[in-house]
Amino acid sequence: MTIEKTDKTTPSRYANQRAHYSEEVIYSILDEALFCTISFCVNNEPFAIPTSFVRKDDKIYIHGSVGSHFLRQLTTGTPVCITVMLADELVVAKSAFDHSVNYRSVVVFSKSEIIDDYEMKAEFFKRLTEKVVPGSWDYLRPMKKSEVDKTMLIAFDIKEASAKIRVGMPYAAESDDTNLPLWSGLIPIPQKRLTPVADQFSQDIPLPEHLK
Ligand SMILES: Cc1cc2nc3c(=O)[nH]c(=O)nc-3n(C[C@H](O)[C@H](O)[C@H](O)COP(=O)(O)OP(=O)(O)OC[C@H]3O[C@@H](n4cnc5c(N)ncnc54)[C@H](O)[C@@H]3O)c2cc1C
Repeated sequence: MTIEKTDKTTPSRYANQRAHYSEEVIYSILDEALFCTISFCVNNEPFAIPTSFVRKDDKIYIHGSVGSHFLRQLTTGTPVCITVMLADELVVAKSAFDHSVNYRSVVVFSKSEIIDDYEMKAEFFKRLTEKVVPGSWDYLRPMKKSEVDKTMLIAFDIKEASAKIRVGMPYAAESDDTNLPLWSGLIPIPQKRLTPVADQFSQDIPLPEHLK
């Protein structure tokens, strides 16, 4: 399925080569990214707050404390712009001008919807936990009702959205540059999970399989 392109979601640069509107592409970037930035205005002042999130179907969900100033600004209907980016490679060219980044990013324009339903809040706790630390939900101490009650769940439709993707080697704005004896190419910058580090209460506890 393709998300309908609007004036707001059409980039002025490289729209044909780099912009994507298929749900498959947009959802795959959202599912790989652990964090997003939610931008919104309060009294004409812009705010942009990074946070964790999870996608299910055509919605993005975020959690937070009911005491959070940030979340309390997002009453049902607040317009937001949500961005997510995965930076894959630094593109190193023969000139500073041609340096770039290979990336996959998504911009979503949406409105907030507060979800009060207890079961949904509990379900999305599980979904978010499993996204960040796969395989951990059944290992953990079960969630308490008071923890669900202390948490807000906010949903955003993914109805007006774009992805943008850059891949490939550096371009040379000046064709003479390609003959310069200067190195150019790509530096991968993968986001990786490395070896877990135990805290002071876990020194004698074996690392569970799902964390290996
Ligand atoms: C890690 C990273 C580094 C970048 N570095 C640079 C840089 O140094 N200089 C630079 O000019 N650009 C950079 N970009 C690209 C930047 O995000 C914009 O796409 C770019 O500035 C061109 O915007 P535009 O004028 O075409 O978009 P606009 O015309 O301003 O945007 C119109 C619409 O296009 C869509 N859109 C635009 N950009 C994106 C995007 N990245 N992802 C998804 N949808 C998008 C949105 O729906 C937006 O509302 C970088 C992107 C990433 C992810």
